[in-house]
Amino acid sequence: MIEQPALHLGIWQCLDILAVAAILYQLYRLTRGTAAIRIFIGILAIYLVYQIVDALQMRMLAEVMGQFIGVGVIALLIVFQQELRQFLLLIGNRQFPGNGSKWVQRLMGRSDGNAAGDVWETLVEGLEECRKRGLGALVVISRGAAPTTVVTGQRPIDARISAGLIVALFEKASPLHDGALCLTQDRILWAGGILPVSGRMDLPAQYGTRHRAALGISEQADAIALVLSEETGTYSLAHEGRLSSRIEGGKLVERLREMMAAH
Ligand code: ATP
Ligand code: MG
Repeated sequence: MIEQPALHLGIWQCLDILAVAAILYQLYRLTRGTAAIRIFIGILAIYLVYQIVDALQMRMLAEVMGQFIGVGVIALLIVFQQELRQFLLLIGNRQFPGNGSKWVQRLMGRSDGNAAGDVWETLVEGLEECRKRGLGALVVISRGAAPTTVVTGQRPIDARISAGLIVALFEKASPLHDGALCLTQDRILWAGGILPVSGRMDLPAQYGTRHRAALGISEQADAIALVLSEETGTYSLAHEGRLSSRIEGGKLVERLREMMAAH
């Protein structure tokens, strides 16, 4: 007698499905807009066909495809090397928010949410002054631990934010004006950081390396990146691999508050 596999949906099976769905979604998010998305969809399609062939007990085809998939896993690791790295970094950042959680901040005597409002106003005040002076700026805002593993060349500052300090750091004569500044809570942790540049191919041509770097860090770290364009004097915000551009200076504080609250 052929044993029919019972469709048993317990709590663990639901968790199983949810976990696989979450992994696939994260992979999709990381590869969205890159050449890897086509490879990802191709592999998914082959795997689905394999499952169907296997269920229909088409033994020979299943055997051939099984071998192909066996080798495919190694090929996958090589092809997706960069994305896997990003994926693991993302998990690491989410898992260990470090001094990001509120109670840890309180234990450490750091400022609480009320002070954050002033931080955005100070930041925007500094950036507006940069804009008036025709300067460009790139600010990484992290709520959790400041991103360091994917950033290079950053010089430590660890100073309380002030509008003047922002302008001083992005002023052309400053040795630290090239690269990004990192803001965590009300402190500027470092400046002059070189961020990973996004590999996205679907970006409009007017976005140069500064915008691509903002997008890149938002893909790889639990952070928001704010760009003041030197060319156009407009602001853009990058968050979780999405870039919203042409944000007016007057709306910036509000947008930052919203984003950090939802973040
Ligand atoms: P803008 O609109 O301000 O011109 P853009 O997106 O067109 O910006 P570029 O003109 O290439 O970009 O901007 C160059 C500046 O961006 C550099 O001088 C440097 O300060 C900064 N920048 C470029 N790449 C990076 C990077 N990977 N990490 C941090 N900062 C970067
Ligand atoms: Mg440019």
